[in-house]
Amino acid sequence: MLIGHLPAGYFLSRALIKKFKIPLTPLWLGLGLVASVAPDFDHAFNLFFQTNINDHRSLLTHIPITYFILALLGWVLYKLKPRRWLKWGLILVLPNALLHTVLDTVFIGIKWLWPFSDRYVGIYNVGYSGGFSVTDYFQHWYWYLEIALWLVAVVAVIISSKKGELK
Ligand SMILES: [Zn+2]
Repeated sequence: MLIGHLPAGYFLSRALIKKFKIPLTPLWLGLGLVASVAPDFDHAFNLFFQTNINDHRSLLTHIPITYFILALLGWVLYKLKPRRWLKWGLILVLPNALLHTVLDTVFIGIKWLWPFSDRYVGIYNVGYSGGFSVTDYFQHWYWYLEIALWLVAVVAVIISSKKGELK
């Protein structure tokens, strides 16, 4: 997924905020949004330390076990020091980061089984050479889904701002 992570993160964050009664403020919504694109921050690392830009899916930010370990650490920390902000932070950050990897699974794939297997799990252009081959991404339904996500999200944000939901 190229541009759809942010609108997808918007919908997931709104759902989590509602379900767990987290205040709908720029801080908490913003945290969810940042988490939804955070796995792609590895592009910065790639730019400076790797020559193959395609390799960013191999970095820890795109490896799901990273987020399961962080969830476990966060849970232990919360058990030791139960703080509401920590709970809310974990509730917003980890599912959004995992949603990112789920959405990236469709194209190229994600190393869901790492460290047990180095293989990408995906559907199209898996590991850049396997799975169903798609030559033009911008003619593919997944690209249209990304655009649709943006359109629906923009409408949702406009409606929400007219209602004055964000405090
Ligand atoms: Zn990504």
